[in-house]
Amino acid sequence: MRSSQFFMPTLRENPAEAQIVSHRLMLRAGMIRQASAGIYSWLPLGFKVLKNIEQIVREEQDAAGCQELLMPTIQSADLWRESGRYDDYGKEMLRITDRHEREMLFGPTNEELITDIFRNSAKSYRDLPKLLYHIQWKFRDEVRPRFGVMRGREFLMKDAYSFDLDYAGAKRAYNKMFVSYLRTYARMGLKAIPMAADTGPIGGDLSHEFIILADTGESQVFCHKNFVERDVLSMDIDFDGDLEPIVQAWTSDYAATEEKHDKAAFDAIASDRRLEARGIEVGHIFYFGTKYSDPLKAQVQDKDGKPVTLHMGSYGIGVSRLVGAIIEASHDENGIIWPESVAPFKVGLINLKVTDDVTTKAAEDIYGKLKAAGVEVLYDDRDERAGAKFAEMDLIGLPWQLTVGPRGAAKGEVELKNRASGEKQELTIEAALNRIG
Ligand code: ATP
Ligand code: MG
Ligand code: MG
Ligand code: MG
Repeated sequence: MRSSQFFMPTLRENPAEAQIVSHRLMLRAGMIRQASAGIYSWLPLGFKVLKNIEQIVREEQDAAGCQELLMPTIQSADLWRESGRYDDYGKEMLRITDRHEREMLFGPTNEELITDIFRNSAKSYRDLPKLLYHIQWKFRDEVRPRFGVMRGREFLMKDAYSFDLDYAGAKRAYNKMFVSYLRTYARMGLKAIPMAADTGPIGGDLSHEFIILADTGESQVFCHKNFVERDVLSMDIDFDGDLEPIVQAWTSDYAATEEKHDKAAFDAIASDRRLEARGIEVGHIFYFGTKYSDPLKAQVQDKDGKPVTLHMGSYGIGVSRLVGAIIEASHDENGIIWPESVAPFKVGLINLKVTDDVTTKAAEDIYGKLKAAGVEVLYDDRDERAGAKFAEMDLIGLPWQLTVGPRGAAKGEVELKNRASGEKQELTIEAALNRIG
């Protein structure tokens, strides 16, 4: 992509309405624009990141044996009356009436709808277990939408649902999602800590919020420092095997949200290993038994032909919130620092003097080679000041910056900068391309 053609309306000044760094940087980098309170348009740069995050989520759900489908955003109020949540949900639910005076709503979540689909098609224990997910826009009329996409009213969520015959089956599904979440966040360069979360009237211990630590987080959290040092990506994971040991290992150290905080247990940790911090909830997994299958009568026949009410769980990831959360975790005073896995482009190619033929020929040549190699590159081919070009590249945070100037071009050399480390190297064009490739 050429900067001269790319729609990326950056801002020089800090927008006054943005209170936290991720919101500021997303506006300044031209990633999003507010349409109305808590509702955003995703401009090309932001949309690319959103899609990359979505794709990692998708790959890890698929790897765990979860099947993708797509449910609508608009739902009928009838189903929510059946579960009893139509009234319970209160003002957070956006209610809509169609031309026939039928009550509809913009889905804040999908337990009712997926249970309805499942109860109408699954008849026997042979149809189980099943794990289904979709990645779809949700609407929650939050009292205080703020921090940009972190607490929007319209936001993109991955929500998965599991169907099993009994608790043991549901626990296996829970474990799959638990481990898949660890991998999902790690692939985005995040340290997400699974923390014991409130299970409400369901009870038990099968609810975890996945939290990343950040001063701007809205949750108060408490955990053992061991979590910060753990790595999951180096582990070989067999989603069809027994995942219980991995889940045990990741839940044996203390980690809890405020609602579940147990001061005595926390104080038992050596004081230099205790971490009390703010955190951002980027995911939440939850076993809720027959909470919805009971009122909605979602049953299958067991081996003896007896009806059994399904055991269910739901598993959410805040896909659009993650865009902001990753920036909160990875930025400096100059701008965003994208982890390579979610970066909108891998390389920013800077032509320092577009009016110089040798420079431009070299830059165009590099641009062509990178594209041919399938590397995503943003080529700044505009006639602008060098300083402005560097500042913009730092702001949008692409992992690599490749600068071609007249002096280097004459010698066949370029400068390669790593955005994260700031390290710069003078290299031959050949060597720079190999480094990036
Ligand atoms: P929160 O505590 O932040 O209000 P929640 O507990 O209500 O979130 P869940 O119902 O658990 O949210 O939804 C699953 C995930 O969806 C959350 O972990 C979060 O990452 C994301 N999410 C929830 N509400 C919003 C929102 N208003 N804007 C963006 N993402 C959200
Ligand atoms: Mg909420
Ligand atoms: Mg929450
Ligand atoms: Mg939650």
